[in-house]
Amino acid sequence: SAPRPNDGLSVLRSVFGLDSFRGQQEEVVEHVIGGGDAVVLFPTGAGKSLCYQIPAICRDGVGVVISPLIALMRDQVEALRQAGVRAAALNSALSAEENRAVRQALRDGELDLLYVAPERLSAPGFMELLASIDIALFAIDEAHCVSQWGHDFRPEYRDLIRLREVFPHVPRIALTATADPTTRADIIERLGLDAARTFLSSFDRPNISYTIVERANARAQLLDFLKGHEGVSGIVYCLSRAKVEAVAEFLNDKGIPALPYHAGLDARVRAANQDAFLKADAVCLVATVAFGMGIDKPDVRYVAHMDLPSSIEAYYQETGRAGRDGQPSDAWMCYGLADVSQRWRMIAEGNAPEEIKRLENAKLNALLGVCETAGCRRQAVLAHFGEAHAGGCGNCDTCLNPVDTWDGTEAANKIMSA
Ligand code: ADP
Ligand code: MG
Repeated sequence: SAPRPNDGLSVLRSVFGLDSFRGQQEEVVEHVIGGGDAVVLFPTGAGKSLCYQIPAICRDGVGVVISPLIALMRDQVEALRQAGVRAAALNSALSAEENRAVRQALRDGELDLLYVAPERLSAPGFMELLASIDIALFAIDEAHCVSQWGHDFRPEYRDLIRLREVFPHVPRIALTATADPTTRADIIERLGLDAARTFLSSFDRPNISYTIVERANARAQLLDFLKGHEGVSGIVYCLSRAKVEAVAEFLNDKGIPALPYHAGLDARVRAANQDAFLKADAVCLVATVAFGMGIDKPDVRYVAHMDLPSSIEAYYQETGRAGRDGQPSDAWMCYGLADVSQRWRMIAEGNAPEEIKRLENAKLNALLGVCETAGCRRQAVLAHFGEAHAGGCGNCDTCLNPVDTWDGTEAANKIMSA
């Protein structure tokens, strides 16, 4: 095949057709091309993929990317191939024959990037296969999956520590949009990346406007919110599958094109609904949190929550799916204090060890703090991530419509009586 340029900027331009690096992308790319380990903590939409794709192309051998979702791999591989990059995925969705072809390409040194699920590392013969070929780097995408403190814990991610043991000289780059310091520290420890250079950018998403309202009549409130969003696409998150179905039906009845998405749907329906959401201009996808990780739809104009997420991290991740193109977008949430007391009860009555219960309570209380604050929401969210923001962002409900007084006793009473 034709010789490739092997400096980062040339690859960015000639392969990906982009003009310039964004934020700290270039620093990460140079560091990894030079053989360094990296932990990349950038918000959703910042462009983390190029941070490993470009070094994988520039360095000798194949870049092996650990990715938690088959759909995510498929999208990335497709996009890379369209750019002329030799990319493939190995996963359970392949036929035996396709699987053999990918392995052969791997052995023949014909791949720049290989996407695999974490459980692949434990498949018979796979580590041996990797040990027999040239590896450019290991990229661990959605690295928060390694942490129980995160919101998408995947036990198989724990095995990734073996990469360091078996391939001590191959650079490893872990990437996540998870912002809270506890999860970050846990990722670094679990993956043995304490000597890696950490790249951290601000987690502020200035184009997202935050609004949190207390529930009165949730459906009417949702309709009211959606009134400003005709002809655009967005996501409405609900806690349960049943509620997803009910809300989608309700919206369709009201003339708002809506599609349901949850793990209980037939796989084909789920894929079709996701596809329609990705391709159509104005679809409201009503979903459980099963939807969203790794979805790269730039023009999601709103994310609405009909129920409280599990934590500020989850809220931030889910709302972060709005406005990846940088255009003004809305994050809206409707929550009920009754839900909060129910969550407290569920945590208290659950079987989790005390340590986990304490953590879950702390997470819930922190989120409640953001819901009930009379101050700037953006400041409150970023403060939770250890980031100082001056407040007064001018783009959240409390900044735009300040409340006069804040009565903590009243809030406590409301919760107790809920
Ligand atoms: P992340 O994984 O951080 O959420 P992605 O890697 O999926 O983000 O990138 C988000 C979007 O930004 C993609 O559409 C990507 O093509 C685009 N992008 C990334 N880097 C650049 C850049 N330097 N210039 C222009 N667009 C970029
Ligand atoms: Mg990503």
